[in-house]
Amino acid sequence: MDNSNSVTSNTTNINTEDTKVIQTDVGAKDGQEKCPKCGSTDITLNVNTGKLRCDFCRFEFEPQKVEGLEKDISKLNGTIQTSGVQNIVADSKSVVTFKCSSCGAEVVVDTAEASQARCHWCRNMLSVNQQVPNGSIPDFVLPFKVKKEEAKQEIEKFVGKRKFFANPTFRKEFTTENIMGVYFPYILVDINSHSSFSGLAEKTLRTHYHDNNTTYDVSQYNVEREFDLSINGLTIESNSKRLNGSSNETSNIINAIMPFDVDNCVKYDSNFLKGYTSEKRDLNVDQVKGLIKNEAEDIARFSANESLTDYDRGVSWASQNVEIKGEQWESAYLPVWLYSYQQIKGDKSILHYVAVNARTKETIGSVPIHMPKLIAVSALVEALGIFLMLNVDWDYSFVFALLGIIFFAINYFNYRNSNARNTYETETKKEIRNLRKVDNFYRERNNVSSPYISNQNNKNLSGQDTTSQVINSLMKNSSVMKEFNEFNNLVNKGDKK
Ligand SMILES: [Zn+2]
Ligand SMILES: [Zn+2]
Repeated sequence: MDNSNSVTSNTTNINTEDTKVIQTDVGAKDGQEKCPKCGSTDITLNVNTGKLRCDFCRFEFEPQKVEGLEKDISKLNGTIQTSGVQNIVADSKSVVTFKCSSCGAEVVVDTAEASQARCHWCRNMLSVNQQVPNGSIPDFVLPFKVKKEEAKQEIEKFVGKRKFFANPTFRKEFTTENIMGVYFPYILVDINSHSSFSGLAEKTLRTHYHDNNTTYDVSQYNVEREFDLSINGLTIESNSKRLNGSSNETSNIINAIMPFDVDNCVKYDSNFLKGYTSEKRDLNVDQVKGLIKNEAEDIARFSANESLTDYDRGVSWASQNVEIKGEQWESAYLPVWLYSYQQIKGDKSILHYVAVNARTKETIGSVPIHMPKLIAVSALVEALGIFLMLNVDWDYSFVFALLGIIFFAINYFNYRNSNARNTYETETKKEIRNLRKVDNFYRERNNVSSPYISNQNNKNLSGQDTTSQVINSLMKNSSVMKEFNEFNNLVNKGDKK
């Protein structure tokens, strides 16, 4: 879409005068957490109930609540931040030393590695639950719900459907024995906003088919949408490696298994992490504020689209105004089952992931491709396409010439999912209130050549900029473009014979 001539004014105001900090680790104790029934310190997550359970007497603990956060997002005003999203202090000590309350021995816990350690002498477990300013202790945790066996099955199913063109070394080495349960760090934001949009929208009245082209008779409307919008638990990765991605890791896979049911998060407790690994948060609120602002704007724009479905030719907004009245920032660990595979290609290596959302079982992955095979089969399909093009009497038979390329692309994306991402603009939980609509007929225009309104912008994504940068760099750096070219050369050579 060409936006160069559009006169669009985008404004977003964020109210940042007063930030209220909510302490979320109130009552959290470092050291021994004992079962109230038997005094054991061996407490782990019961995946079936989502609660913590004593491994000796089977007593289950009710999850603790975090007090002080605003539940009704429509009442949010100004900025609230939890203690768990406060800035990371660069030289904060991650090593915490305790005196074991059972035997008096000194126990060291390196919170950069784990938030628990066992006393060497009396075998009691010691936990760190008070927040350390190094990003390792969040406000909330969403407990694992999908068991390892179930995750293994999901991963095997996913890879099983992608065996034919899979790299032979990968096929030989593939096993789900070593999959890992990982708590990844995220920042969650609730947003109370007010939006107003105004512009031009178009509907198709009639379509005329001519010999060489198609034209449209259209009606134009002046449209306005104004509404209050609550966005609930907008979720972004808070580890820079995950958010920014890199050319040698398929991080977009982990992004694509969102959303999580973040409403079911419980107060952080180190015992939830036992048996799983975790990654630390290394991004601060200021570093992701711009991205959150863009994503909130996108969610507002797509919310407006819900009441604009009659305008089949789209909408061109002349003014878009999203005012953020209140925002609430929190941090959480969310659960993912992860299979990873290191593919070595010459002096380069790519880390492929298959990830399972350990709440919803949503599974997405990247499977390394056996390129010679995919190229050979695509070339066969291309040859068939060219044969059909030459022998089938159809006005659009040139389409057949694209068959091989289409076949290649479909399989490439089916195996690698390099374009997969979280569709936050439609999948984030939200509520539209006080919708005001204006739809005034403006004029009719006949014999328009474009199938869409000029300067259509109601489906633009600004929060995607960051993500698409990641994908673009992936495309550039990965061998996909090279392989496309290789394939094209091969086909062209075949043509000339
Ligand atoms: Zn017990
Ligand atoms: Zn001890």
